[in-house]
Amino acid sequence: MTPPGTERTQLCPWLRLSGVRRPPTRIASMLPLALAVVVTACEERGLDLPDDSLLVSQHFRYHARMRDPPPCPEVLSGLEAHYAEMRAFLGFPEQVIDYYLYRDENDMAQTSPCVALAACASGGTVHTTQEIHRHELIHAYLAVLGRPPALIEEGIATVISCGGFEGASGAPTTPWRDLFQVNVTHRKDELGPVTEVYVAGSRLTRWIIDSFGPERFVAFYGSARRGTADQFAHDFETCFGRSLDDVWAEEVAASKPGFLLCPCNGDPWPRDGVPVGLERTCTGGHRPLLVDQDQAHAIDFAGEGFSVWNCDRAGVSSLLDGIQTTSALVQIPAGSYFVAFPSDRPNPFPMPPEPRRLSIGPWRSLGTSCAATVPFVDTGAENLRISAPATGQVWYARILFPTKRRMYLGSGSTEMGAGVFACSKDCPSDLASCTLIPDYFSGGLDMEGEVVIAVQTANTPGRHQKVELSPAL
Ligand SMILES: [Zn+2]
Repeated sequence: MTPPGTERTQLCPWLRLSGVRRPPTRIASMLPLALAVVVTACEERGLDLPDDSLLVSQHFRYHARMRDPPPCPEVLSGLEAHYAEMRAFLGFPEQVIDYYLYRDENDMAQTSPCVALAACASGGTVHTTQEIHRHELIHAYLAVLGRPPALIEEGIATVISCGGFEGASGAPTTPWRDLFQVNVTHRKDELGPVTEVYVAGSRLTRWIIDSFGPERFVAFYGSARRGTADQFAHDFETCFGRSLDDVWAEEVAASKPGFLLCPCNGDPWPRDGVPVGLERTCTGGHRPLLVDQDQAHAIDFAGEGFSVWNCDRAGVSSLLDGIQTTSALVQIPAGSYFVAFPSDRPNPFPMPPEPRRLSIGPWRSLGTSCAATVPFVDTGAENLRISAPATGQVWYARILFPTKRRMYLGSGSTEMGAGVFACSKDCPSDLASCTLIPDYFSGGLDMEGEVVIAVQTANTPGRHQKVELSPAL
């Protein structure tokens, strides 16, 4: 792969003037955004780096403290997989990362070069208590390129998330010049603005990558100056041909849903309806799901913790989130998605958790024409979910209950014009002949034989309206 430095001068013309790359220096860090905990930059002090065990692979030296449980055997393959995927996407120079795994946060606080809480990266070195800390790894991979303003440095580390968490998704309200001044290594009293740096940086990064591609983003990463806000605005406009003020107003401060990004590589998930086991793993992971035309799918899953996200707008909403055994009828627009499953270690539960399995297949049980739907046979899963796109249309779901079940229905919809109805299996001529189900209907309905649920959706593009059927006790 071409080292990113070689084409930089053509990508950002102003680099011909400034030209000089700064040496890599210390990098600030944070926990996953949802936790909104930011740690300080690393400082030199009395260190006692983990060295009880050393695992070595092509791109990692993994130094671990003695801990219980010890690092799992797959950790190196998980790290190499992350490295390969991110290098294919971002094109950073090949390198070896020193990864220091601490026993716990106390150990980190007392012996690591990260002055405060959870983790930090310093140059090509990661210090953390997480077996695979993807946010810090991005810092470590890119450190060799230089040190851009925090909006860019934290933006890229935050925005690439194939773990599926949405984190803080609200549009930042602080002007960019104020955020530019925020020192993300000073946590005290500044959690709000510091968190906004991550969110705003993610949105800005997302716009650059969507508009110009990862290669040009990386060139900008290696060249943008940390100096003053005016310099940053100048660098940005020279490189991208747009004023930062304008892009900020349109893309960062505007209330657009979602900003997370996943390269979505790997073997696509099969859509033949055959259950696939999701092995428990310490590394977590993700796998793409490609849908070639707008189509309803039946999805059955068991086991907690996984979710299905849109690759194009990963933060829009999770189509599914695995929290219990569920059958779902989901109208999936054509596009590229990914199935995310989290790390499973350490296991906080005394009992082994339920094995995860997931099947995805096209199914004609959900549609905008009642008569054209075919029955989806209730599998007895704990929950049954209908997820219809909010197109302003009525969506019909036909379900066959081989045995009688008493179910609660909850739509939780507060959208104007939305509603859920139970209809005759012979299909109504209009919804007036169906029974309106109140939101969070608590009485329970007996379901037996073929049942048609009609979902009147509001017109809110990009969203799905979900109806949950759960067993009445
Ligand atoms: Zn960070």
